[in-house]
Amino acid sequence: MTEEATNRAERHKARMQKMKAHVDSQVAQATEERGIIVLLTGNGKGKSSSAFGMVARALGHGQRVAVVQFIKGGWDCGEQKFFMDHPRVSFHVMATGFTWETQNRDSDTEAAQSVWEQGKALLQDESIDLVIFDEMTYMFKFDYLSLDEVLESLQQRPHRQNVVITGRGAQKSLIELADTVTELGDIKHAFRAGIKAQQGIEF
Ligand code: ATP
Ligand code: MG
Repeated sequence: MTEEATNRAERHKARMQKMKAHVDSQVAQATEERGIIVLLTGNGKGKSSSAFGMVARALGHGQRVAVVQFIKGGWDCGEQKFFMDHPRVSFHVMATGFTWETQNRDSDTEAAQSVWEQGKALLQDESIDLVIFDEMTYMFKFDYLSLDEVLESLQQRPHRQNVVITGRGAQKSLIELADTVTELGDIKHAFRAGIKAQQGIEF
């Protein structure tokens, strides 16, 4: 090895040792064991697909998962087809009502309330390890659900239960309550370049 290469290898080793010490001390400090709320918001793509990534992770560990979807999409989502028949996943989808097309306040509110009743029960069920509330933020934006009621149920859920909430424009109080909040930024989206939604990527 040249002298330069040796110096570089030593500098790299020293840097890695420092990094390891930092990570180790942070790991040592994280001692609390409880379920968390993950909030995925922002205008960029990746919120719901990230949530379903966590569904796969949880199932891989033998956990039980419930998915509550507040917007009945016009298309058949691959993740629903894939997870639907899994014995440890239950799906609770808004049966009728809110899609971008309906815009009927009364039926939308009724549909939102009815699926929320199921969600509320899941937040009282110790046997469910992970609950996903997909596209939930819109329900508060349109006043279809009471934000205060949902916040209260989230706070009273079982100690170890994890929750993932997705949707653009997350409300301030939801951000405050959540433990992990990620805002996905929209830098580019193929749709705006006129490319049709791709099976396996978009739905
Ligand atoms: P995904 O389900 O792909 O993770 P998402 O949950 O972050 O996306 P939503 O706002 O729920 O995004 O929108 C759902 C659909 O709209 C998806 O098909 C997604 O690819 C598409 N989409 C997301 N963001 C954008 C965007 N900025 N412009 C156009 N289409 C988008
Ligand atoms: Mg989504």
